[in-house]
Amino acid sequence: MRADREGMLTPRRIAYLKFLYERIEPVSNAEIAARFSVDPSTSSKTIRMLVEAGLVDHAPYQRIRLSDQGRRCAEFLLRRHRVLALAFSRLGVDPTVACEQASRCEAQIPREVVNAICAAMGHPTTSVCGRITRDRVCCSSEER
Ligand SMILES: [Zn+2]
Ligand SMILES: [Zn+2]
Repeated sequence: MRADREGMLTPRRIAYLKFLYERIEPVSNAEIAARFSVDPSTSSKTIRMLVEAGLVDHAPYQRIRLSDQGRRCAEFLLRRHRVLALAFSRLGVDPTVACEQASRCEAQIPREVVNAICAAMGHPTTSVCGRITRDRVCCSSEER
């Protein structure tokens, strides 16, 4: 179920979730539209789809925030992005390019593959563009 939800996320929806997660404070639709350089009607459509998926809370006339489920999802999305970006950079790709290219392909990569790459790199905690959160299943063996 959870894997399906991640699977249906387009690169645009992933970018919105990551933005909402990193902003911490709830944001307005106008701020989201400005951040992604789109018309407010476009961003509001994307937000509506994320609300329907249960990932975002948006009551009328209120600011937009992640739901608990959306927060957990965004944590995975950032972890996936940063694991992939680090893997590319360790293979010799320039860190800035590694970050950009991870953003372009990450939507297609399932959790098992992210965890396999994480394990192969020795469960790193820092990537080229931020902290890598631990996955309870993947990274817990390190603590034992
Ligand atoms: Zn990055
Ligand atoms: Zn790991």
